[in-house]
Amino acid sequence: MAAPDERTAQASQLFENFVQASTCKGTLQAFSILCRQLELDPLDYSNFYSSLKTAITSWKVKALWTKLDKRAEHKVYNQGKACQGTRCLIIGGGPCGLRTAIELALLGCKVVVIEKRDTFSRNNVLHLWPYTIHDLRGLGAKKFYGKFCAGSIDHISIRQLQLMLLKVCLILGVEIHVNIEFIKLVEPPEEQHEDSPGWRAEIRPSSHQVSEFDFDVVIGADGRRNTLDGFSRKEFRGKLAIAITANFVNRNTTAEAKVEEISGVAFIFNQKFFLELREETGIDLENIVYYKDHTHYFVMTAKKQSLLDKGVIINDYIETERLLSNDNVNQEALLSYAREAADFGTNYQLPSLDYAINHYGQPDVAMFDFTCMYASENAALIREKHGHQLLVALVGDSLLEPFWPMGTGCARGFLAAFDTAWMVRGWAQGRSPLEILAERESIYRLLPQTTTENISKNFEQYTIDPATRYPNLNSSCVRPHQVILCLCSVADS
Ligand code: FAD
Repeated sequence: MAAPDERTAQASQLFENFVQASTCKGTLQAFSILCRQLELDPLDYSNFYSSLKTAITSWKVKALWTKLDKRAEHKVYNQGKACQGTRCLIIGGGPCGLRTAIELALLGCKVVVIEKRDTFSRNNVLHLWPYTIHDLRGLGAKKFYGKFCAGSIDHISIRQLQLMLLKVCLILGVEIHVNIEFIKLVEPPEEQHEDSPGWRAEIRPSSHQVSEFDFDVVIGADGRRNTLDGFSRKEFRGKLAIAITANFVNRNTTAEAKVEEISGVAFIFNQKFFLELREETGIDLENIVYYKDHTHYFVMTAKKQSLLDKGVIINDYIETERLLSNDNVNQEALLSYAREAADFGTNYQLPSLDYAINHYGQPDVAMFDFTCMYASENAALIREKHGHQLLVALVGDSLLEPFWPMGTGCARGFLAAFDTAWMVRGWAQGRSPLEILAERESIYRLLPQTTTENISKNFEQYTIDPATRYPNLNSSCVRPHQVILCLCSVADS
């Protein structure tokens, strides 16, 4: 048997391997080795974090424990007992699903996340509002990603963000299953006896153990194509908006380091730049953002006529879906268009603009339609069948779709994650279902209007309690009688 010092060093090394893992699969593998070697039971969710802390005592990890302890001490969590016994299923391991999972775990829920993929491959970069940077620092972001928001950097690649949140989730006892796709909810059976199942999920592959997990709360965090039934969507139809994202290899040379980023806000007002771009290249843009991250990431909104003139779009159609369909887009011309815009935008200072390779082994460029953006009418509802109530909620893009060039997806997504956790807390405490739904809808009405300016600047005080984040909160602008229909119609369906 190894000496105590040796055991400490070995445990510390296993934990470092987990912290440093750079892929989703690698992280899950390192975590499983860590648990096995240290004889920790990840299914013992309410004791897992404290057992892990007892097992990993090296100085290297002290700062992380201090941060996580500080977070866990928020009164709202009631020492991890606020939601004891509540079982939650989260659909989707994107940034918002994972961020919600962390809050629910801190509240003491049993949390299971299912994610249909097993890779985090999105190079695209999210803009972080100051409060999100503060929030992620408080979860130990720097430990997981040393370069996190160094200096004036206020953005992060989606995959890097997912990776760090995945690690925090695992540390806090969240159960994560990859390669599991949610299909639909399964109602509790009519015949009820002592060990009858409650609400469950139909998943693919159907034989996986998660299909036997009974839950009281389900959170839809599966992105813009939300699969949970019962939520109608509002459509915001603006003028035609075609966004292009492009990622180029960052070789981290001195020349590349010198090139200035383009923040969207600054460029919206710079008409001269866009006129010169059009004159010199024929490229006509409404905005462009450039962030230097793991890749050189560009997102721009292009005018249709210039895409037609430059041969990117082959034929002009009125329906946007047909206009941007694969067989109407010349991929080579799209690659050149985005490269030329990136080159001009950075004043030809990036030494080589070689496309990074995406998940499909192709150059990482994509074109998306933002003419219609969706938001869910409601943030939550309650289903009831054969005596079993289920709280159903949406977060992230499933709730409110962001306009990428403004990068609001993660900032508003995290606010909704906190608001949802607050609702789950009320639910677990036995508050009246109609009251908590009414409160949730009242808070949801604020979300589309939130900006960096109108949310509270006192980040240190932020908790899942909405009053700590929204200065002029009116949590009762939607009245319980206004949500009653939602409860009944769904319960009766
Ligand atoms: P997502 O990040 O979309 O995560 C949803 C997760 O759910 C995914 O991991 C998905 O695999 C999983 N999932 C989906 N269906 C199921 C199912 N049935 N069962 C189980 N799991 C499921 N925003 C920007 O600001 N700038 C960008 O450049 C940008 N690029 C993007 C590129 C792509 C391809 C996508 C999909 C989104 C992009 N976004 C971008 C949006 C941004 O990623 C989101 O706003 C942000 O990640 C928060 O989203 P989320 O966690 O709600 O959803």
